Amino acid sequence: MTAAVQLSSAARKLRGMSSAIPLNVGIARSAGSGSADADGGKRVLLAEPRGYCAGVDRAVETVEKALEKHGAPIYVRKEIVHNRHVVETLREQGVVFVDETDEVPEGALVVFSAHGVSPAVHESAAARNLRTIDATCPLVTKVHQEAKRFARDDYDILLIGHEGHEEVEGTAGEAPEHVQLVDGPDAVDRVTVRDESKVIWLSQTTLSVDETMETVQRLRQRFPGLQDPPSDDICYATQNRQVAVKAMAPECDLVIVVGSRNSSNSVRLVEVALGAGAKAAYLVDYAREVDPAWLAGVRTVGITSGASVPDILVRGVLDMLAEHGFGEVQPVTTANETLVFALPRELRASRR
Ligand code: SF4
Repeated sequence: MTAAVQLSSAARKLRGMSSAIPLNVGIARSAGSGSADADGGKRVLLAEPRGYCAGVDRAVETVEKALEKHGAPIYVRKEIVHNRHVVETLREQGVVFVDETDEVPEGALVVFSAHGVSPAVHESAAARNLRTIDATCPLVTKVHQEAKRFARDDYDILLIGHEGHEEVEGTAGEAPEHVQLVDGPDAVDRVTVRDESKVIWLSQTTLSVDETMETVQRLRQRFPGLQDPPSDDICYATQNRQVAVKAMAPECDLVIVVGSRNSSNSVRLVEVALGAGAKAAYLVDYAREVDPAWLAGVRTVGITSGASVPDILVRGVLDMLAEHGFGEVQPVTTANETLVFALPRELRASRR
């Protein structure tokens, strides 16, 4: 029996693995290849890639494997990934989500979320003798390493990101004396640095690429010696989903992004769709949140989903749209993703 067969149906649903999305018309076409709406009917453009990224898949599997191995309850600090359905499903399976480690009983097992944690969180867990599994996405860990390295070299680090986001708190916590948060282009004027020849920008992994470049441009106008990060901090998954939505948005009367409101990359997809020419764009967690009034006069609906969204939720939206005459579904494929991350060390033997 393969490990995949052993997955519970809940786990399979969380990953959207239950079946391939049935397409009435499955034409893989490149972006910009012209309208395929030859019969003048209603249609759906389905962005690819969309949904789960490698970091989210790893984080969710980490919690599932920890549950299998250690039994409930498992504690998770913050939402393991920013998706309501994922969190609610795991909660039903015995996961207790907490805001801070001091809510976890002494000696219990706690998983750190995909967004990463600061060294202070590791210290407070150690002080309570907690057993920990760190599900931080390796691409977030990479930004932590950059922050540590440039802090060691005494740089001022301008961290572009959203104030209050867990990832930003974790990264800034690596070097609080050196990191300043820059929350978008309008925050640039408030930045002060000690030495203009030793300034570098880093960023949250889930930002809008275009807005981040605007912020960098304004920072560079103020600090011409500003250094770029050694490699892209906005991760491949965020970038790929934005490219796919940009490709389809100009043809869309409406774009529906499946994702939660606290999911940074999902919210960005709505903004990117509107910026790329979609006439309207909305974020929904579930198909039931799609207002039929949005469909009035609409011929082309674009669908995508954030990096923390299981595909079963996209299927729900497609089914709902099919009931409203949008049965024709055309994939718009701009990249193929194959990246897979190893599970945290403590669980590696149990990967499916
Ligand atoms: S969105 Fe990017 S950084 Fe965040 S978990 Fe996914 S791969 Fe990692």
